[in-house]
Amino acid sequence: MTMNLVLMGLPGAGKGTQAQFIIKDFAIPHISTGDIFRAAMKNQTPMGLQAKQFIDKGELVPDEVTNGIVEERLAKDDVADGFMLDGFPRNLNQAEALNAILAKQGKQLDAVINIHVEPEVLVDRLSGRFICKSCGATYHRLYNPPKVEGTCDVCGGHEFFQRDDDKPETVKNRLAVNIKLNTPLIDFYQKQGCLYQIDGEQEIDQVYQAVKEVLTKLSANK
Ligand SMILES: [Zn+2]
Repeated sequence: MTMNLVLMGLPGAGKGTQAQFIIKDFAIPHISTGDIFRAAMKNQTPMGLQAKQFIDKGELVPDEVTNGIVEERLAKDDVADGFMLDGFPRNLNQAEALNAILAKQGKQLDAVINIHVEPEVLVDRLSGRFICKSCGATYHRLYNPPKVEGTCDVCGGHEFFQRDDDKPETVKNRLAVNIKLNTPLIDFYQKQGCLYQIDGEQEIDQVYQAVKEVLTKLSANK
């Protein structure tokens, strides 16, 4: 059986955690764009060399080059039985390119798994981190609050601050950029009939049970 997957989710949705569970249960290569870019540049593949020229100049890598790197990766033998793409496609142009790459190889996408979490919940998750002013101990409002509210567990200090990256406004802007890219992709895959929306607001284990159910059904139907 083969299983060609794309894993999607906004920052904070828990995509990375779910990816780890999936590759443990379903033996398919996890292809993250960051990793394949680094590998392509290190191995000096034709597309890797092109990408490096843009990155060295501090410029964005154009879609054609990104698509080329994905195509090089998907031509390798280890993906014959399936793969899980993570971080690609990022936009419609890339999604269309992916369909074309797979069609050339006589393949298609079996499922696009989107870990869905409402943006307001993501803001809470991503902007929850704060730091003790006197000793630097880090806390998170949801996941790791001080034992006594307003008092640092480590030094007893009462003053805290947030890094700019963790402030709600910064987080909201970062999410807005991602939502703008993601929404057309979700529509695209919905129309293509391969989108599976997973409720990412459940406990991590329950999220994975839902993912696993989809993938188990898919592999049984092959
Ligand atoms: Zn402290």
